[in-house]
Amino acid sequence: MNNFCSSCGSSIPPDARFCPACGAVVVLAQSTVTPATATRQLFRPLYDRRIAGVCAAMSRAWGWDIGLLRVLTVICGIFLFPLTEIVYVACWIGIPEEMSAPPLP
Ligand SMILES: [Zn+2]
Repeated sequence: MNNFCSSCGSSIPPDARFCPACGAVVVLAQSTVTPATATRQLFRPLYDRRIAGVCAAMSRAWGWDIGLLRVLTVICGIFLFPLTEIVYVACWIGIPEEMSAPPLP
């Protein structure tokens, strides 16, 4: 079963988070949201962080390897300067800090 982008109307693979055509964030249909993923929101954790917790937030929310993500961020920060830094600061501002959110397993 395919979802359809609410922005441009193209069909989207069931597990996609972003529309491949226009890049809009996919709002998952109810049938595809499992309890495990529904609670996985982006929060910058208070402790497991190096700079602002952006990498930690993404690795927790999406199950990415945090070490790999940090290495990639540093490499991109060097070679794509200053694009990565701008994105990082945007995420720093845009991703809420973890407050009373329950810890993820
Ligand atoms: Zn789209």
